[in-house]
Order: sequence, then C-alpha cells, then structure tokens
Amino acid sequence: MLLQGKTAIITGSSRGIGRQIAISMAEAGANVVINYRSGTEAAEEVKSLLEAKGLTNVLLFQGSVDDKEAMEAMAKATVERFGGIDILVNNAGILLPKFLMMTKPDEWDQSLNVNLTGVYNCIKASLRPMIERKCGRIVNVSSVASLSGIPGQAAYATTKAGLNGLTRVLSKELAGFGITVNALAPGFIETDMTAIFNEKKTKEYYDMIPLKKFGKPEDIANMAVFLASDQGQYITGQIIAIDGGLSV
Ligand code: NAP
Repeated sequence: MLLQGKTAIITGSSRGIGRQIAISMAEAGANVVINYRSGTEAAEEVKSLLEAKGLTNVLLFQGSVDDKEAMEAMAKATVERFGGIDILVNNAGILLPKFLMMTKPDEWDQSLNVNLTGVYNCIKASLRPMIERKCGRIVNVSSVASLSGIPGQAAYATTKAGLNGLTRVLSKELAGFGITVNALAPGFIETDMTAIFNEKKTKEYYDMIPLKKFGKPEDIANMAVFLASDQGQYITGQIIAIDGGLSV
C-alpha cells in the first residue's frame, strides 16, 4: 500500500475533493485527519464510510483553517493520536464568484483568509514534526483559475496564484529537510463548488474543455496519493494541472 503507516491531515475533507483525497489516502494505508469547518454530519459520514471498510485510523477535527489556534490544536491532536505528521493536504478553499467590481471588501478578505492565510496557518502548525523527521509531503490544492484568467473569479484566482508562489518558494526552503511541496491545479471538478453553475454556464464550460467534461474528485485524489507516496519523491515545486486540457 502506497501510504502504509503514514499520517495525513487533509483540510476541508468533509465534502468534495478533500473528502475523496481522505478516502483514497486511507485506502492507501494512511491514518487520516478529516478537517472541516461546520459540516459535522458530512464529516461523520466519511468516518463511518471508512470504518465500514475496516479503516479505523480516522480523526475528525472541526476548525476553520483561518483560525491559527485551531490549526495548532489540530496538529497537536494529530501528533498525540498518530505520533507524527507525514502529509499535509491544504485543500480547504472557498469560491465567491464575482466580478472584481462587485466584490465587497469582506468577500475579498474572506477569500484571502481561507485560501491563503489558512494555508499559512496549517503549514506553520504542521512543519515541526516533518522537519524533526527530515521527511514530509505538502500538497496544496490550487486551481486552473491561477493559470488562466476566468472572468468572475478575481479574488479566488488571486489567492490561488498566491498559493502557486508559496508552493514554489517553500519547495526550495524545505528541500533540505526532505519535504516536497507541490500544488494541484484542478479544472472544473464535480463537487458542490461547481454545482452552483446553471445548465447554460456548465455547457459553456464544457465547450472550453478539450476533454468536454468536468473531472471527478478521484482524478485529483489519485495524483495527491501519488505525490504523497515514495513514488512522488523526486517531484517538488510543481503546479500540476488536472483539468481535461483546459489550461493548455
Ligand atoms: P467543496 O465541495 O465546496 O468542499 C469544501 C470543503 O472545504 C468542505 O469540506 C468544507 O467544509 C471545507 N471548508 C470550507 N471552508 C473551510 C474552512 N475555512 N476551514 C476548514 N474547512 C473548510 O469544495 P471542492 O470543490 O471540493 O474544492 C476543494 C478545493 O479544490 C478548494 O481549494 C477549491 O478551491 C479547489 N478547486 C476546486 C475545483 C472544482 O471544480 N470543484 C476546481 C479547482 C480548484 P464545511 O462544509 O464544513 O464548510
């Protein structure tokens, strides 16, 4: 099993892409920490699903990634329960789709707080156990919006482009500690986030994608597992588009 005995924190893993990453990592042998902001029922459903498969090394942790103290408490609880942190997947993110002219200051701040400061909080809280072992994997979930300008996603694209910058810098700062840092840049993936698009908008997006369909959470989770495993050990500082060709 690719991640046997490893411990992974996956932020925002009660639903969507994060949920599938948590499931795939658990199936690959990892102890998983399922973080979420408010959807306790959904998080418990993921835990029950894993337990039904005999995968019992699951810790639920409620806390918003933009809450520094909560993220420190999550890292502490993870080390107490599983003895360390090997993998951090910074998946939690929000999309408030608006043209810049319509974006209110608090919406701008909220996007930055969750999508960027949240990542800073989680990395800062989780780094020490990785540095001590001289080994670790950080996988940031960015977006195709960071690579190509999608109208109506100004704040979101800004945060994801920032995340790409952080990924590249950190890959160099942490390479000496045996820690790799990469970002996944999903295109349109079938989750609650894309369920907000009406039929007309969805059709417009299909037309823009060379493979003519949205991706599935599994398409992202497969790459996250690969990068987190020994098979991904020589890949760092990369922004990997998984988008049906959208960004080409
Ligand atoms: P989603 O279906 O909306 O699920 C979001 C998950 O993140 C939920 O588990 C949610 O938990 C959690 N979350 C939200 N805010 C949080 C916070 N402040 N702290 C902790 N957890 C929080 O989203 P998704 O589509 O799976 O997207 C996951 C990631 O992929 C995001 O970073 C997104 O930007 C990126 N992405 C998605 C797509 C796409 O097409 N879906 C494309 C490109 C990139 P609660 O329910 O408890 O709030």
